Amino acid sequence: MRMPLPADYHMHTPLCRHAKGEPTEYAARAIEVGLPEIGFSDHSPMREDDFDDWRMRARELAEYAAKVERARLDHPTLPIRFGLEVDFLPGQEPWIREMADFHEWDYFIGSVHYVGDWAIDDPATLNQWRNRETMEVWTAYFKNLTDAAATGLFQIIGHADLPKKFGFVPAGDCATLYRNFLTACADTETCIELNTAGLRKDCAEIYPHPDILKLARQLGVQITFGSDAHAPNEVGMDLERAVTLARESGYEECCRFEKREKSVVAI
Ligand SMILES: [Zn+2]
Ligand SMILES: [Zn+2]
Repeated sequence: MRMPLPADYHMHTPLCRHAKGEPTEYAARAIEVGLPEIGFSDHSPMREDDFDDWRMRARELAEYAAKVERARLDHPTLPIRFGLEVDFLPGQEPWIREMADFHEWDYFIGSVHYVGDWAIDDPATLNQWRNRETMEVWTAYFKNLTDAAATGLFQIIGHADLPKKFGFVPAGDCATLYRNFLTACADTETCIELNTAGLRKDCAEIYPHPDILKLARQLGVQITFGSDAHAPNEVGMDLERAVTLARESGYEECCRFEKREKSVVAI
């Protein structure tokens, strides 16, 4: 018998300029693969529209809401949540609070993609990894991630060990980095997500690593699931594997969000 699937809370739309397919097509695919619930979490705008070229513009937030509303009207049996994957950079907190007031969001996923002005997961800047000390980048990354969790502005922290994407993993021990980050999550009751996009990248692993997940469980940090779909065919992808990993790490439940209110369901 097939395993019941959890909600897929991480998916994108063409507004971010690097995803394909309309939200209504993602929703159709979700029903096809048997998902009980989905949530959109497209890349948040920055206050400056020219910040980079892989996110929606601030003026497109209304269009984003309309696209998700279209998906809801087309698929009334599927609960569809409305969120954002919000980039956390130090100093962005006032802008994130402003965005939180634009809509009645179901949740924000706080993600770190930047170390300084470098988007560490951007294939176009992959060479930078060869010019930097891997542990130094991971340390800076986890500092930002810890600060993100500590703000309490996010319901979920996205793809916690994204720096492994291209296979640059430090030889040294990262346990302190993980513990500091997860302690901040526990203190603010912020979830982490199991994100299956890593399976489709060079690292060929779910984010985060089982070591992080096991420590998260010990510290009482709760979880959500996400495919990080950038196309309809990626919706729900490998979520069974993520549920298996969660169970192996000691988890028996995951979280859902509605208007930022958390509830818990068995996995
Ligand atoms: Zn993306
Ligand atoms: Zn991301």
